Order: sequence, then structure tokens, then C-alpha cells
Amino acid sequence: VFNFCAGPAMLPVEVMQKAQAEMLDWQHQGVSVMEVSHRSAEFIELAHNAETNLRQLLNVPDDYHVLFMHGGGRGQFAAIAMNLLGESGKALYLNSGQWSKAAAVEARRFAQVDELSIVESMEGKQQVVLPELKSDMGDYRYLHYCPNETVDGIEIHEPINSPWPVIADMSSCILSRPIDVSQFGLIYAGAQKNIGPSGLSLVIVKKSLLELPALPMPSIMDYRITAANESMFNTPPTYALYLAANVFQWLQQQGGIEAMGLKNQRKADELYAYIEQSHFYRSGVAATNRSRMNVTFQLADESLNGEFLAQAKARGLLALKGHRAVGGMRASIYNAMPHQGVVALIAFMDEFARNN
Ligand code: PLP
Repeated sequence: VFNFCAGPAMLPVEVMQKAQAEMLDWQHQGVSVMEVSHRSAEFIELAHNAETNLRQLLNVPDDYHVLFMHGGGRGQFAAIAMNLLGESGKALYLNSGQWSKAAAVEARRFAQVDELSIVESMEGKQQVVLPELKSDMGDYRYLHYCPNETVDGIEIHEPINSPWPVIADMSSCILSRPIDVSQFGLIYAGAQKNIGPSGLSLVIVKKSLLELPALPMPSIMDYRITAANESMFNTPPTYALYLAANVFQWLQQQGGIEAMGLKNQRKADELYAYIEQSHFYRSGVAATNRSRMNVTFQLADESLNGEFLAQAKARGLLALKGHRAVGGMRASIYNAMPHQGVVALIAFMDEFARNN
């Protein structure tokens, strides 16, 4: 079975097998990792290794905190605003699709938010047109954007040139290719695509951004409290953290993020190349903004959608249905998706096209 779900997404099979083998007996203690104290020496070592390995994978500079928090991606939509905007702060949100739009809606519950739409339709294809961002546009505490729109299949490949600290929602592209963390004020991600199980979220934040006073907020959402307590102010989602730690180790065994980036590029290139030459399928996203993680596509004859999905499922190609907001199909090909999964998908798509 190849699982193309956008999230929760497949995890590396080696990680799942290790978790299965250790389920009832973690580190020869006769109990599961789920059943040990987060204050035990063994668990603290696990959490410490998770942070160290993540820092190494992403080359995180020392003047950034790495935080493991609760509440997934949407939890951070609120946490960012509460932590960084203070009493009268304002922020600018770039709108490139469903998730960046949702992030702005949530932030507006706490502060004043301006929004700039950056997607245009050109010859029936969606394309990102980045505006020139100048400091006289507003007194913003930060600029928020989503480099990979999971629902729309839109990716912004180039760095954002911004006079304000850049906050990036990397929920669906974190760890998929090398990034320069120092270009960002804050990076966050819900875990359930490239990190581990849902619920957990990762925040990488420049320490200097936390110097301004924040709004009153629940302690578990407070970056300052989380950092001061090394992500253990309260009980962290321990099993999710255990799996994330194993995913980070797996990534190192794969050759790190650079090697992963090349594998991901190859998978995406092959799938888009197939769609591009086909008259049966089409991509609604311009070549410059196609996501390497979430490949959205449509059948020319949409009345065949149901049949396509049923036959794909019978072949073990799961969860190809596009998000309800946009329809069509979506193949999510995160780090854990092997190249053979994409080969199998293309073979099926080709056979389906010839038969129909
Ligand atoms: N941001 C992006 C880019 C996403 O793809 C998602 C959804 O999975 C979220 C935010 C919301 O994450 P969560 O469901 O963990 O709140």
C-alpha cells in the first residue's frame, strides 16, 4: 500500500517497525515509552537527542530556540499572534491559499492583521506573484507566509525579501529540503506530515523576537515559558515526541536533508512530467509554483473522479482525493513516500487514462 494522504501522512516504514518492536518494552524497562515519566532520565535523554538531531539536520543557529509544543499547526496560528504582537502590534499576512488564509483569520482574533493576496490566475493556472515589500507599507512586527500550501498544491520556492521578521508555516514542507533558518524570525510546523503524529508542533524561533512583552495567554502556548522549561512545562505528547525523535534519526540515516531534497525533487519531477505530457490529466498550478510535497491535479473529465479513486484504492494507492475546498486529486509525496510509490502511481494513472 502507498498512502498519499496529505496528513496525517505516512511515516517511514523503518520508524514504524522500530516503534512496533519497542511498543511493550522500551529500552529494556519492560514498559512502553508511553508509560514512563517525562521527567525520567531516559525520556529526558530522548527529548534532548531529538532537539540535538533536529538542530543538526536543519543547521539551526544558536540564537534560536527549538520548541516542541502542543496543538498542531492551528495552535501556532494563535500562539504566534499572542506571543509576538503584544498590546498594539500589527502583522502582515501573505495570502497564497487555504492555510495562509486560515492563519490570518486566527491571528485577527488577537491583533490587527493586514493581508495581501499573492496568487493570480494566468491562463487558467495559479501563480504566485510576490509583491515588493517596503518598510513604509506599515509598522509590522512580522510578515507571515506559508511556503507550501498543502491544499492548493502551491509552493513558493524563492526566499521572501522582507523588512520585517519572516514567520513561515512549514507544516507541509519542513525537513523536505535544505533551508537557511537564519533568514526566518520563526518557523513552525504541525508534525503530522514530515515529523510524526498529529498534535505535536515544532517551533524554531529567534530568541531576540521574544524580548517584547506578549499578551496574557495560556502558559502552555507561551514561547518564553516553553523555552525556559525546555519544552517540558507540562507533560509533552511523549509518544509523538518519541516517534519524531526516531524520524529525525531516520533522516540522518538517509543522508540528511540535502539527500532528502534530491529524492523529493526527483519524485515530484517525474509525477509532474507525466501530468504535463498527458491530455487526460492537468495541473492547475503554474510550473513555477508547483508543490514538491502536494501534487494537485485534475482529470479532464471530472465525471471519472469516483472511478479513478475507487480503482486507485483497489490497487493500494490510498487517499488521492483532493481537499474538499478545491476538489480534483492530490498526491502527497512527503519524505516517507518512496520513489516506488510515485512509479506505481504513474503506472496506474497511465493505465487508467488508456482504459478511459
Ligand atoms: N498549516 C498547514 C500548511 C497545514 O497543511 C495544516 C494542516 O494539516 C495546518 C497548518 C493545520 O495543522 P493542524 O491540523 O495540526 O492544526
